[in-house]
Amino acid sequence: MGMSYPQGRRSKSLGTQRSPLRKEYRSESIPRYVGLYQSGELQRRSEALESRLASCDICPRDCRVDRLHGKSGFCRSGHLPVVSSVCDHHGEEPVISGTKGTGAIFFGNCNLKCVYCQNHQISQDAAHQQGKDITPRQLAERMMYLQDVLGCHNISFVSPSHFVPQLVTALCEAVPRGLRVPLVYNTNSYDSVDVLKQMDGIIDLYLPDLKYADDKLAVKYSQAAHYVQHARESIKEMYRQVGDLALDDAGLARSGVIVRHLILPNELAGSRESLGWLAREVSPSITVSVMAQYYPVHRAPRVPLLSRRISAAEYAGVLDMLDEFKLQNGWVQGLDAAENYQPDFQRQGHPFVLSRAV
Ligand code: SF4
Repeated sequence: MGMSYPQGRRSKSLGTQRSPLRKEYRSESIPRYVGLYQSGELQRRSEALESRLASCDICPRDCRVDRLHGKSGFCRSGHLPVVSSVCDHHGEEPVISGTKGTGAIFFGNCNLKCVYCQNHQISQDAAHQQGKDITPRQLAERMMYLQDVLGCHNISFVSPSHFVPQLVTALCEAVPRGLRVPLVYNTNSYDSVDVLKQMDGIIDLYLPDLKYADDKLAVKYSQAAHYVQHARESIKEMYRQVGDLALDDAGLARSGVIVRHLILPNELAGSRESLGWLAREVSPSITVSVMAQYYPVHRAPRVPLLSRRISAAEYAGVLDMLDEFKLQNGWVQGLDAAENYQPDFQRQGHPFVLSRAV
């Protein structure tokens, strides 16, 4: 999770012929989560979600551990949110990053264990995330910093699936302080549909990965049982909530779903099955961001089928599939993207050279 889109590396902008992106928001439109706060619904959802941490079923792993009292499950996360990095990030899709960047909040730990994770320093090294847990109030302050000091267009929660209750609780503190920018849920899609339903009206933009079309590969490379079913049901729920991508009058994303598909070598991502499913079962109008930035990191150099970057033929084959399935809306990374995007969460100050960090 947490794939990014190197700025200026777009090789092909899909959808220019059909003018598919709706512009129906004014830049100053008030997000729906403000209304949920004012009605008391946001607080109610926060309490309902927090109570589930006592026997955690926040994601499909259904660990049933008591995270309110010091226990942790597969994600090795307790009650307080672990925040590994907060920065203005300029490497996402152009309608997300705009000119001022997205306000990225990178949560520590993860509910997947991908052998090729580019964010493995923060997602799979729980020992080094100790001491990075913060209170909901501090998380709300980070949001306000990103909005008011750095001027970010939106707030992106990166790898948030295991911290949804904490995220909503923090919003209850941030909205009365003046939070008004759109909220982005940037997920590996190993989400619980039941929990996602609690986010209806809170999240404006969903950026779900669609990683695999074969459960055996999902288990082998991400330790994710039944990934295909969970991810597909999650994406359908996200699309039900916010639908196709819509822009504001400044050309920035205001609501909708952008599905991210990372091409893996040796067809391990099941691109044909996944893209065909999207067109058939969700909608050919859905926005798709095809990512070519795969490079072998973490354990991948020792995994034969994952130990190289994608080939030009594999890349061209996936682009042809977009045409075949008439998926006309979205972006495609250049084949050289892997050379331009390598986050380092141990770099002093921030993980991205062009970004500023809190
Ligand atoms: S959020 Fe963590 S503890 Fe809860 S079910 Fe998922 S992996 Fe298990």
